[in-house]
Amino acid sequence: MACRTSSPSSLEKIPATSIRVLRTVDSVRRWRRPHLLDRRTVGLVPTMGALHEGHISLIRAAARENHHVIVSIYVNPAQFGIKEDLASYPVTWAADTEKLARLDRELADDGANLGRISAVFAPTTADVYPAGFPGQEVDSKGSFVNITPVAEVLEGASRPTFFRGVATVCMKLFNMVQPERVYFGQKDVQQTVVIRAMVRDFMLPVEVVIGPTTRAADGLALSSRNVYLGERRRVVATVLHRALSAAEAAYGAGARDRETILSAAQRVVKETLEGQMALVPERRVMFEVDYLSLAGPDDMVELDVVDPAKGGILSGAIKMLPVEAPREGEDLGHSGGPAVRLIDNIILAPQ
Ligand code: AMP
Repeated sequence: MACRTSSPSSLEKIPATSIRVLRTVDSVRRWRRPHLLDRRTVGLVPTMGALHEGHISLIRAAARENHHVIVSIYVNPAQFGIKEDLASYPVTWAADTEKLARLDRELADDGANLGRISAVFAPTTADVYPAGFPGQEVDSKGSFVNITPVAEVLEGASRPTFFRGVATVCMKLFNMVQPERVYFGQKDVQQTVVIRAMVRDFMLPVEVVIGPTTRAADGLALSSRNVYLGERRRVVATVLHRALSAAEAAYGAGARDRETILSAAQRVVKETLEGQMALVPERRVMFEVDYLSLAGPDDMVELDVVDPAKGGILSGAIKMLPVEAPREGEDLGHSGGPAVRLIDNIILAPQ
């Protein structure tokens, strides 16, 4: 594997902390080796930056269970489709490192943790793709990890290169860092199924830990993409969680069949859309449902009936459309408020 030789930046730290900033594969390996020899465990939290409380909760979990936490911040172009928001994806390095510094001080004061944040890994695309970036097209040639069929349904059906990009970059990160544990959020539930399948099928020596979804007080799942929403769409964006919660309630009330469970969610969507359509264009918010799904927990295959002994996954994706008629001085969100695709899910736990 091609590795860049050591550079002065490999000794960089986040100001006023002991958190190392690592930028090359070589520097990660040199950081990792002594921990291996000292039998100190390493937990990796992969992120694309624009850190929020969802990411922070995963880092906290990693610090409870490992001697060293390494957070990767890398906006991986391979998991963005050619028409997606790679160019405008929020990059907030100064705010991210500030949050990590604050969290690390908190972890130091809290005796319940095994470890702290030891490093941030922020590689360049040249490091992550040593043979050159293979491109974002479906038929791009290169070394990819494909986890099928799970990566082909739901998110994978809407975004054909997404899970190939995710699995490929995670395989690379796992190989670069060689952590004992990796931390992912339930927020991206299909991603957790893909990563678990990859770890199982390629016998990767790593434990996958899934943290619960962190939500705003009104139920909206935190996401780096929420900054695109602006005030008006932010209020209506709770529709997805409300719809999935209605389906969960139907299951809780004893429904087991797909029709009854999902129609509870569809009702919420319909009522919300009707409510918005009754408003003038200067006030209303339009959205489209990409999918509402009730699927098996291990393979994301659609279920006709939920077996309570196995449980299931309720998930959905909606596209919040740009506001039609902006009002004078209205906050439209990051990048002028483009269409925003939001996902969410609720796990129906086995009983
Ligand atoms: P991202 O930066 O969006 O690629 O996310 C990095 C990690 O944070 C992934 O494992 C996500 O599932 C997780 N994550 C994102 N949002 C949340 C959230 N609201 N709650 C918990 N984990 C999250």
